[in-house]
Amino acid sequence: MSKALIKLEHIFKSYDLPGNNNATVLSDISLEVKEREFVAILGPSGSGKSTLLRIIAGLVKPTQGKVSYQKEAGEGEGFRKGMSMVFQSFALFPWLTVLENVKLGLKNNHKLSEKQKQEKAIATIDMIGLDGFEGAYPKELSGGMKQRVGLGRALVMEPDLLLMDEPFSALDVLTAENLKRDLLELWMEKRIPTKSIIMVTHGIEEAVYMANRAVVLSRDPARVVANIAIDLPHWRDKQDKAFTALVDKIYSILTAKEVEVKTQKEDVPKKIKQLPHARAGALTGFIELLDDIGLKTDLYKLGEQLSLDLEDLLPIVEAASLLKMVAVKEGDIELTSIGKEFAEATVLQRKELFREQALQHVASLNTVISALNSKSNGKMPEEFFLNVLTRHFGEEEAANQLTTIIDWGRYAELFAYDEHIGQIYLEKDDI
Ligand code: ADP
Ligand code: MG
Repeated sequence: MSKALIKLEHIFKSYDLPGNNNATVLSDISLEVKEREFVAILGPSGSGKSTLLRIIAGLVKPTQGKVSYQKEAGEGEGFRKGMSMVFQSFALFPWLTVLENVKLGLKNNHKLSEKQKQEKAIATIDMIGLDGFEGAYPKELSGGMKQRVGLGRALVMEPDLLLMDEPFSALDVLTAENLKRDLLELWMEKRIPTKSIIMVTHGIEEAVYMANRAVVLSRDPARVVANIAIDLPHWRDKQDKAFTALVDKIYSILTAKEVEVKTQKEDVPKKIKQLPHARAGALTGFIELLDDIGLKTDLYKLGEQLSLDLEDLLPIVEAASLLKMVAVKEGDIELTSIGKEFAEATVLQRKELFREQALQHVASLNTVISALNSKSNGKMPEEFFLNVLTRHFGEEEAANQLTTIIDWGRYAELFAYDEHIGQIYLEKDDI
């Protein structure tokens, strides 16, 4: 049995929110990564994947729990020794050349001379396929090449543990495939001394293609809900039965958990439920599509058919399920009788149905309406709601929540919204 490179025991993480609130993002996460393992971490958007990766990196301190790592912690703030990270956004310095950006990875290495750093950086650039671009600036590069620089900066450090946070999400499909292959090849042929890789991703197929193990997180808070070995030999064939079976399995776990969490949360009083970020228009289209297809459908295949990845599809599925228009079970999705009625209704009937379902199942919409009703003119600044939501969700998520609430409320004709003055109001005949 190979040695554990890093071990997390009972990690909890809470963030303080304005007021006396705090949000538990990670709950009791234990995880061990051994040498020569490539672990993919999957979970819904906002579940805490990046937070977990930052805790592993040593950039964020857990509220509770223990991280054991083979090497001593680095000095002061920053990454633990022997770790480096690749970011979705590439995080390159625009005023530095490719060579200078890659060399940045060696900034804190005081053992190497300037000349050695230069040589190492050039060799790394060669290895990641950017030979000839040493003097180019990021703006001259395509997205795929930028991420090669991001990867180069991480690899030039010769990390024991390479961390990647959705490294391929910002790239188009072909470019991403290309880069995945190249990285896998470096890793499998041991052309890089990296012992283990941890990759956060929302691409299930990507995880099954690259990793040896998939760790699936739930949301609100994130717990480990599955730990799935992927022991297919490389190179893996995406058409292969064993491959699609694994993708299907992970898909089922992720979608089942999403819905389960939602139902649990329904009987928690007071706490405002987080709405999935789905537009009413997208939801409508989705329900129509399901009605067209008719039968029970495999969610994973549906995503493929629509060329939507999980990140895009899941909020719509969640919204439909929250409004009781669909039922999701073991990775299959089916319209409920309400969903069927919705699909076959006229535009006005649809709005009415949506309104009924939303009022019954979405507490935050009711909150907005009661607040508007309490005012004689039926008007409130959006800032007011943003404040309330910030106490529950934090600033960034509060803005997302308000956008969704306004979108749903407008579609259901529950209230109107004046974007210019940031005001939510009841239409005259509702007062
Ligand atoms: P993911 O990477 O899975 O999308 P994140 O780890 O980025 O999720 O975030 C998980 C949750 O923690 C989100 O609800 C986010 O708003 C919250 N969060 C992340 N960082 C902070 C912070 N510094 N302060 C408050 N809340 C935060
Ligand atoms: Mg993230």
